[in-house]
Amino acid sequence: MGWFDILINLVYPSRCLLCSRVSGKGEVVCFSCKESFILGLKNSQDSIKAFNELIYLEELYALGLYQGDFRRLLHAYKYQGIRDLSDIFANLLAEGINSNINKGEWVKPQGLVPVPLHPRRLKERGFNQSELLAEKLSPFLEIPVCKALKRVKYTQTQTRLSRGERIINLEDAFKRKITLPGVRGASYLLIDDICTSGATLNEAARVLKEGSSVIIYAAVLAH
Ligand SMILES: [Zn+2]
Repeated sequence: MGWFDILINLVYPSRCLLCSRVSGKGEVVCFSCKESFILGLKNSQDSIKAFNELIYLEELYALGLYQGDFRRLLHAYKYQGIRDLSDIFANLLAEGINSNINKGEWVKPQGLVPVPLHPRRLKERGFNQSELLAEKLSPFLEIPVCKALKRVKYTQTQTRLSRGERIINLEDAFKRKITLPGVRGASYLLIDDICTSGATLNEAARVLKEGSSVIIYAAVLAH
């Protein structure tokens, strides 16, 4: 923390995003909220294997459910641009991913592929929340970030669309920038923040797999 930040912190002390109490030391969430948030997540932790429609994904891992405090924090991260939250998120998500790898359930991925934003959306939001997450995950997992996809279609926000409409909305949304290198059976890991129907991840995985025999996993913060 530089002198300017210290000064700012004295005049405007950081307040916890969840309980609004002064959290100190530039922490976005206070110690006790963080503790109970992590405990809550551990109780709701969920690996989704039963998404039958996600045919291009080998497996989807989600850290928790998109509800309660987690929902508030994700909202603050994505829409209010509280980027410091990426450290907390990456730390927790890495634990889950590493456990899948260490237990031999996942082939260790050769690269982390963040779900890209359309340049127009990136300009609106100021940062790509999935890319930042992938960059923070990379050292924990010892897997490089591989920006293999670009978004070529500016899509409507998916929240109010039905499943069928989402699939049509995403048609031709992604293009692959590079062919994923790797021997047969090599895997890559798609990274995104929130998965609602899984349509985005499935479409991204389909494009990554075109003409390639790679395995695609996905990891998200919440579903
Ligand atoms: Zn708090």
